Amino acid sequence: MTFHIITIFPEIFNSYFNESIIGRAKKEGKVALKVYNLRDFTEDKHKTVDDTPYGGGPGMVFKVEPITRCVEFIKRDEIANDESTRVILTSAKGDKFSQKTAQKMSTIEHLIIICGRYEGVDERIADNVADAEVSIGDYVLTGGELPAMIMVDAITRLIPGVLGNKESLEIESHDRCDLSDYPVYTKPNSFCGWDVPDVLLSGNHKKITTWREEKRKK
Ligand code: SAM
Repeated sequence: MTFHIITIFPEIFNSYFNESIIGRAKKEGKVALKVYNLRDFTEDKHKTVDDTPYGGGPGMVFKVEPITRCVEFIKRDEIANDESTRVILTSAKGDKFSQKTAQKMSTIEHLIIICGRYEGVDERIADNVADAEVSIGDYVLTGGELPAMIMVDAITRLIPGVLGNKESLEIESHDRCDLSDYPVYTKPNSFCGWDVPDVLLSGNHKKITTWREEKRKK
């Protein structure tokens, strides 16, 4: 799967995407991440990506042309119009991102994510360029870069072969009926009077499974 991220702050992604599980998935070729600087798709010498809102009001708005050009470039030159492509506009008023959304998106070949900034993005992008507007929660961030990273992270770990232990994915929070994962503990079995539940030390796998199921339901 390839993630294509459109942003005015491309450097933001370097550190996070080169570490840990995502960094390894990239090295092993299980995912690819391409970051595009929106300013490279402007046509004026100041590389202008924003302008004042029609009708007045505070803040600046991302212009429709550079984003449209960038998405067209990605579709035409980078992925040759692969049918399995989705264009996501990050937006505080979008559909809420969830584990189910991540699961659906993990089967897509190319995911293009547009990171907004300032007052937002000219609505014509939502209407004509993006397939969906996606929010990561009911709060307003300064830009779409953190939402993009969150989506890439949640989706990448669902791609087959990315997590070392397949079972890590089989029982997780939100994987079925919105149950949470069971609590986990590691050594030592007692610390400052805080003890690991006896059942986990019992070696009785049937009892452990029952205990974990009960905890998930709770
Ligand atoms: N004026 C907009 C509003 O009230 O909905 C907020 C714009 S916000 C300051 C700038 C950009 O950050 C948005 O265009 C979007 O790309 C991103 N953003 C902010 N909050 C977000 C959220 N909860 N989920 C996804 N993207 C978000």
